[in-house]
Amino acid sequence: VNHQTARKPVIGGNWKMNTTLQEAVDLAVALKLRLTDIQDVEVIVCPPFTNLHAVDQTLAGSDLELGAQDVFWEKKGAYTGEISADMLRSVGVKTVIVGHSERRHILGESSEAVNKKGRAALDGGLRIILAVGETGDERATGMTETVLDQQLRESLNGFTEEDFASVIVAYEPVWAIGTGLTATPDQAQVAHEFIRNWLGSEFALEVAASTVIQYGGSVTSANAVELLGQPDVDGALVGGASLKPDEFAGIVQAQQLVLGGPARAL
Ligand code: PEP
Repeated sequence: VNHQTARKPVIGGNWKMNTTLQEAVDLAVALKLRLTDIQDVEVIVCPPFTNLHAVDQTLAGSDLELGAQDVFWEKKGAYTGEISADMLRSVGVKTVIVGHSERRHILGESSEAVNKKGRAALDGGLRIILAVGETGDERATGMTETVLDQQLRESLNGFTEEDFASVIVAYEPVWAIGTGLTATPDQAQVAHEFIRNWLGSEFALEVAASTVIQYGGSVTSANAVELLGQPDVDGALVGGASLKPDEFAGIVQAQQLVLGGPARAL
C-alpha cells in the first residue's frame, strides 16, 4: 500500500456537548479570525445540533467547513429527538461523525447502528467521519487489531469502493480520548497502517491509498507535529483542544508545518 499519495489532511473539531448559542458563535468567530488561507488542509468544526445554523452563518465566506456529531438513519418521521441527514444538510452541514466512542460506550450504540447511520448519511449527500478504536483493556490484552477489524467490518458492511469518496476514518483509541494520554506517534502509525492495509484488502488498493485516516485522542498543539508527521496519519479529530481557539489553530498550523507549507504566524 502506497503511503505517499496526495491525501489532503483533515483537521476536525468535535465540540461535543459544549457551547451555548452565544459561546458557539464566539468560538466560530475566533477560529475564523485565526484560520485564513488554509487550502492545503481541510478544517471542519462540529458544533452541537442547536448551534449548527448560527455557526454556518458565522463561518460564511471562511475556509472552515461545518460538520455535525451524529445523524439518525431514517429520513423523517416519528423518531423523537433524532436528526436526519436532510435536516443537517439544510443547515449547511457537509460532514457528520458516526460511531464516536462516546456514543458507542455511553449511549450503547452498536456497529450495526453506526453502519445504518453511515449509509443514511452517504445516501443523504453527507460525508462521514467513521470513528473506530480500542479500549485500554482491549489494547492491554492484545485485542487492538481484532477490535479494529470488527468495528470496520461491521460499520462498513455493504459499502462500495465508490462510497469511499465520502468516507474519512478516524482512529480514536478510547483510552486516549479526553484523558491526556495520547497514543505515541509509533502506536498511532501502527494502527493507521493496519487500517489502511485493511481497506486495501477488504475494498481496493485505491481505497487504501486515497482514504483519509485521522488520529483522535488528546491531540494538542504541543503533540500535533509528531503525530501528524506519521506517514499514515492524515489529520486529526480533536475534542478538548477544539474548544480553545489558539490550540485548535495551533493544530492546524502543525499540520501545515508537516506538509512543508509556510508556517503562518497566528
Ligand atoms: C474526540 O472526542 O474525538 C477526541 C479526540 O477528544 P479529545 O481530543 O478531547 O481526546
